[in-house]
Amino acid sequence: MADPTPALRLKNLTKTYRRHQAAQLPVLRGASLALAPGETVALLAPSGAGKSTLLHIAGLLDSADSGTILIAGRNVEHLSDAHRTVIRRRHIGFVYQYHHLLPEFDALENVMLPMRADGSSAGAAQAKAQNLLSAVGLGARIHHRPAALSGGEQQRVAFCRALVNGPKLLLADEPTGNLDPATADTVFATMIELVRNTGLSALVATHNADLAMRMDRAVRLHQGILQPA
Ligand code: ADP
Repeated sequence: MADPTPALRLKNLTKTYRRHQAAQLPVLRGASLALAPGETVALLAPSGAGKSTLLHIAGLLDSADSGTILIAGRNVEHLSDAHRTVIRRRHIGFVYQYHHLLPEFDALENVMLPMRADGSSAGAAQAKAQNLLSAVGLGARIHHRPAALSGGEQQRVAFCRALVNGPKLLLADEPTGNLDPATADTVFATMIELVRNTGLSALVATHNADLAMRMDRAVRLHQGILQPA
């Protein structure tokens, strides 16, 4: 039987930014979500609605004011920063709108980095990185630096880097938002295929309703609450 424990569970998250004493901006007002193992969910909302805030909190890069986060059934609330870093590195992959690849390293080295940071040998990291890059059609371009790759290729490398440590959860913030529509379409398809082939759960923020429809379901962030879209 499939493991019923959600890969990610968010319960009643709240977050208010305090710009200065008089101005408070409540961005999350009780956002809840359960992501089943292997499930792909689109996160829809207009710019400024709080998608990045939600993804950063879910990915343990920022803290909520209140609410609970469970990663693979584990409550991460009272863990030390060091422990949260380990969970982030091993269990969560991130992709952003901009690739954030290191310019002085080639594609292969960029993908190897998270595995090396987690203590893997150079040989093991290289083998895994090469496999992933081949799987996204970049087998012949592994020694190109980011500047020598197209925008779509750079994002494919970023997906490989996000997945190299074998996370169970992918969090993506407008991963194709910086690409022209045709490239966005093929890069998004590559991402979904990679996610489905590896059995990952994914929460992907996108403005694009057509791309969202390729995922198992969509949720909308509206006035700080997550609703079915
Ligand atoms: P989205 O990703 O949907 O565009 P964000 O989560 O980036 O939305 O931002 C939601 C709102 O919170 C915006 O109004 C933004 O200006 C504000 N905001 C985001 N981060 C901060 C911060 N660190 N301090 C103050 N306000 C912030």
